[in-house]
Amino acid sequence: MLKIVEVGPRDGLQNETATVPTEAKVAFVDALAAAGPGEIEVSSFVAPHRVPQLADADEVFRRIARRPGVVYSALVPNGRGFERALAAGIDKIAVFTAVSETFNQHNINTSLAGSLRRFQPVTRRAREIGLPVRGYLSAAFWCAFEGRIPPEATIQAVQRLVDLGVDEVAISDTIGKATPAQVARLLDDLLPRVPIERIAVHFHDTYGHGVANVLKSYEFGIRTFDASVGGLGGCPFAPGASGNVATEAVVAALAAEGAALAIDPEMLAEARRLLAPFLSADRRPQPVADLPACAVCDHFTDEDCCDRKTATG
Ligand code: MG
Repeated sequence: MLKIVEVGPRDGLQNETATVPTEAKVAFVDALAAAGPGEIEVSSFVAPHRVPQLADADEVFRRIARRPGVVYSALVPNGRGFERALAAGIDKIAVFTAVSETFNQHNINTSLAGSLRRFQPVTRRAREIGLPVRGYLSAAFWCAFEGRIPPEATIQAVQRLVDLGVDEVAISDTIGKATPAQVARLLDDLLPRVPIERIAVHFHDTYGHGVANVLKSYEFGIRTFDASVGGLGGCPFAPGASGNVATEAVVAALAAEGAALAIDPEMLAEARRLLAPFLSADRRPQPVADLPACAVCDHFTDEDCCDRKTATG
């Protein structure tokens, strides 16, 4: 019932400056699988030049040892990526968009509606062959460009993804600025409208709220949590800030709530140990506490990132 989606190999490594050798990635994924998360996001089938750190997705999939019971997934942006993913023997695909139009324009060069049109053929084909589809919904609480995202906008975007045939929507706090109260407000309005089993949460720890947001979601009945071993992967909009909430912290917090999780902390530590020599020395930044997200955002030039919205129209 309770599921940890380990996103370190994809979301983590994508945001690292060092490019990790394929062999080390394979060992990392195999160690993570042995640790026990039910699902591992292994890599990304976006165009290799867009994310050079993950250009070896095909080879990583070919070389990992498939452990029974583990779902091995990856990001798939379009039809070409889908064909590569199928050839690699993927178990589940993930498409990605954002609630914020400005974020979408910067990240995937289209609108929310445009991104949904782009996914449609991929999602349809995946459904035809029984391949589950996850949809990432970035900037679901705050956006580095637009500031606070109204809960209603997020709910409508979730519904559009579900209508498209996405099995699981990962509601993502991309800049890590959401608070437990904001999480509660969203879930209060969302859960009566979308089946709870279709919802996953993807929190970042930029402001130190990651675990608190996980626990708040757990309280609401959410049972699918994204996490990255060792907190791997910084915040894409805040160089030097921490990003994905650490798997170890999520597992410990949920266990303290009495949640049944079969994840071996020793094996998580082993996965971390295997990867560590390949990461750049400065890769584990300190959390940025008590600063507005805008202040740590690369794209920010004034006191409030809402100014960015005005500046960019
Ligand atoms: Mg992330």
